[in-house]
Amino acid sequence: HPFLVVLFVGNVFSQETKTTSSDTRHFDFEADVSSMMKILINSLYSNKEIFLRELISNCADAMNKVKLDAIDHPEIMGTPALRKLDITIVPDEDQDTISIIDRGVGMTREELMTNLGTVAQSGTMKFLQAAEQSGSSQDIIGQFGVGFYSAFLVADKIEVTSKTFGSDKQYRWSSSGTHGFTIEEDLSGNDLVRGTNVTLFLNDPQYANTSIVRGVIQKYSQFVDFPIYLRVEQE
Ligand code: ADP
Ligand code: MG
Repeated sequence: HPFLVVLFVGNVFSQETKTTSSDTRHFDFEADVSSMMKILINSLYSNKEIFLRELISNCADAMNKVKLDAIDHPEIMGTPALRKLDITIVPDEDQDTISIIDRGVGMTREELMTNLGTVAQSGTMKFLQAAEQSGSSQDIIGQFGVGFYSAFLVADKIEVTSKTFGSDKQYRWSSSGTHGFTIEEDLSGNDLVRGTNVTLFLNDPQYANTSIVRGVIQKYSQFVDFPIYLRVEQE
């Protein structure tokens, strides 16, 4: 299958101005998450690019869940457009962002809080324990999922917008790292039908560059079971 398809679009993908809802709430990470994030970032500093493998593998996991759920509930596959289970990567050099978008199961407000706010839900802990045992993160990086929080290797801020099938609301989780996260209803009008959009506000702008991103995808994500589209600006 084509693992990497380059799409030429006429316009630069623009991040819509985000309308913030009035119900924005701030939460602290569990203490463990903050300390884990610091350790993770220190131990992976020389392997920053691994973040993209992690986010892509989360997209694939979420779409495999759709396939599994659809066995008993075929309606979750939704419209023909939604049936195309794929991943879209959108680097944006004007904004220094990269977005990773899937049509997977998505997350409810509760799931955003639990999955992206606690240690229990993340593969990161297993990675760190194994790294401790082997004395080096370098040796085990290929064997373990490093997890979502590795995105903070390259980003100062992360926004996750997500919607589950059948929900009429989508929610945005946003965090600038160890100090916690906010959750609000996403009223941007950029409606997802089902799935998740992870946008990284990069502190390492090279990952907004299409050629670099293409190289990282080819290096780590060749065997992902879903097509990966890289959106590029037409010259
Ligand atoms: P792991 O993938 O090992 O479970 P991660 O830290 O990568 O750990 O992700 C934590 C959790 O966040 C996942 O288990 C999943 O529930 C949720 N998650 C992350 N990314 C997505 C996504 N794109 N779609 C749906 N759920 C996601
Ligand atoms: Mg993962």
